[in-house]
Amino acid sequence: MASNGNADAQSSTWTPSSWQSKPIKQVVAYDDQEKASAALKKLSGLPPMVTPAEIVKLKSSLRDAALGDAFLLQGGDCAELFSYCADDAIDSKIKLLLQMSLVLIWGSNKRVIRIARMAGQYAKPRSSPTENVNGQEIPSFRGDILNGFDPAERKPDPWRLVEAYWHSAATLNYMRAQLSSGIADLHNPMDWGLGHVKDKELQSNYQNIVHSISESLRFMRTIGADTASQLHTVDLFTSHEGLVLDYEHCLTRRLKHPAGYQPAIHSADGKGWYNTSAHFLWIGDRTRQLDGAHVEYFRGIENPIGIKIGPSMQCDELVRLLDIVNPTKEVGKVTLITRYGAEKVESMLGAHIEAVKGSGHVVVWQCDPMHGNTRSTASGIKTREFSSIFSELSSALKIHKQHGSFLGGMHLELTGEAVTECTGGSVELGDEDLSLNYTSYCDPRLNEKQALELAFLVAGHYRN
Ligand code: PEP
Ligand code: MN
Repeated sequence: MASNGNADAQSSTWTPSSWQSKPIKQVVAYDDQEKASAALKKLSGLPPMVTPAEIVKLKSSLRDAALGDAFLLQGGDCAELFSYCADDAIDSKIKLLLQMSLVLIWGSNKRVIRIARMAGQYAKPRSSPTENVNGQEIPSFRGDILNGFDPAERKPDPWRLVEAYWHSAATLNYMRAQLSSGIADLHNPMDWGLGHVKDKELQSNYQNIVHSISESLRFMRTIGADTASQLHTVDLFTSHEGLVLDYEHCLTRRLKHPAGYQPAIHSADGKGWYNTSAHFLWIGDRTRQLDGAHVEYFRGIENPIGIKIGPSMQCDELVRLLDIVNPTKEVGKVTLITRYGAEKVESMLGAHIEAVKGSGHVVVWQCDPMHGNTRSTASGIKTREFSSIFSELSSALKIHKQHGSFLGGMHLELTGEAVTECTGGSVELGDEDLSLNYTSYCDPRLNEKQALELAFLVAGHYRN
């Protein structure tokens, strides 16, 4: 009972607004307080976008991932814009995540949990509050939820918080409608588009995987196992970085726990605090200070949460952080999203795995091979090389194995469109090709062919 006593002491002082008394990074200052209050009031009265039953379902799946029985695929834009709330952009991302998940199921022989970095990924942490645009120093673009990309719209506008809710809700509504109307129905033929893969051996490897998946589906149809409702649709959860705490706070609601759910900390009213803006939220690498506002907010919500950890994370700090956000050591409550870079993963990951093991916490280890591998081209374009991305992923797979642990998932910045933002892969994009279709407003994303190829390579890694 001693450890629970500690948890109770902590939870008793937590409220959805207790973060407001802590030091905060990436702070937002509005100059019109009345307008800000009106926007927050509006948000607080709007209905939840996701429900406790869905959140708890994801949490229980992530428990499986923490124990090695499932794999978490999470992906989407770095900065989602309000203008991406359009059918084609949403459809292509759903289809890509579905195809990647089939490949990963084939490779890992595990159930794959899909989380879209979508329907709310509107806020960006920035390293500098200002940036130089056409020779002028102006406030940095911080994501559509705070200000506009257009230099004339850089002043934070609180009404954008409400706009974020509408766009998030419309995106989620369309996702749900498409999923229940057969977009993910495995009876439909899929376009795997492998024509661009020039390397003959690689193309035949990928073709074999596709053939094997198609054969499995055909077999299920033949024996009549495809009438199971699971083949008609799939679960797809939503996520974003929980950066703008005013927004997250307004969507945090005291709701009844679903039947059968055993919360880590029991409450007399059978209710808990759920963040209803997304199923899964994560703390960014820039806002994970132990005594900071973000960690304070995150420690009180019932949702499964992620924490990004980069090369500056110390082992003892990592354990203290886990103790704060998950004092009862719920298995799979926390996903550690490691993002060291291909060159640093070897020297960092092993020590973090051992520290967490020694602490008694059981987490989902997810590799983000994007954020530690950003580079600038000679002409100053931000990009990432496909081979470095895969290198960090394959090192993570290997290091986990060496430490008697396992990689529980991957976290990617991707889009279903044919953008030219990352170099390399079978599409053979070079630095000189980046300007062809570079449309990201923040970090470079894998295009649909590069993302699918990464899934093929990871699947191959499991099979070899
Ligand atoms: C991101 O995921 O876009 C991001 C800002 O990542 P990190 O917190 O790892 O830098
Ligand atoms: Mn990013």
